[in-house]
Amino acid sequence: MAKCKYCGRSGWFLKVTANGLCKACDPTITQDILNRSRSLNYFLRTAEQSSEWNSKVECYGTVLEHAEVLARYEERGIPTIEPLPSVLVRDYKDKRDITVRKGLEAEIEEVQEEIRTNKNTKVNTKRLGRFLEQIRKFKSLLTKPNLLDDLEKKLEIAAQQIERSLWMYVGQEIIKHELRSQILLAMQRSHYLPHIMLCGPPEMGKVTLANAIANEMGVSIKCVEAVVIESSQTLRFCLPTWK
Ligand SMILES: [Zn+2]
Repeated sequence: MAKCKYCGRSGWFLKVTANGLCKACDPTITQDILNRSRSLNYFLRTAEQSSEWNSKVECYGTVLEHAEVLARYEERGIPTIEPLPSVLVRDYKDKRDITVRKGLEAEIEEVQEEIRTNKNTKVNTKRLGRFLEQIRKFKSLLTKPNLLDDLEKKLEIAAQQIERSLWMYVGQEIIKHELRSQILLAMQRSHYLPHIMLCGPPEMGKVTLANAIANEMGVSIKCVEAVVIESSQTLRFCLPTWK
């Protein structure tokens, strides 16, 4: 008794093609296999020709999408392509994992170099944050996400170091805590930081704190001794040059 390998219909009078498909399924499935194998080959070629690792990864993604659908036909015993789709799925998942790992490994070197030369905390934190996001996105894609664990850890440590270096030389834990929440709020809302008045006896770290705030906000800072400001005129004189 004949049985269609795709829809499962069976009967003594059912005619199936050489692919084991009924008349209703055969044209659609044959066409789908043809289209997918063409597209798959196209993206395999494009991946091999591409010099950018992330374009390669994108191509492998499309190859895998097609190969996974074809592998489902293969499971039902429907003839598809050579090498078998299940083999392609296994190979290209591995290949994608390795390409991502190598690509990110090279990029992390660049990011670390950028951070070493660029002293702006805000820019560096943002750069690290973006890269960390990228690594996490790839982790969700890979078959072996733990391939990226050490890179993720490396970046987290770098981010913590930047954070620590900014505030470590200032004491004043309570004030720091309050200021940081204000800064975070301002940055999240893209607002300016409200006016802040730090007062206390000399050598308490007011200027250091002011510098830390400016650094955190990614803006320049100009310090003027209060005794220099004799009148509102002097202050007005200073203001236009400030940003
Ligand atoms: Zn059928």
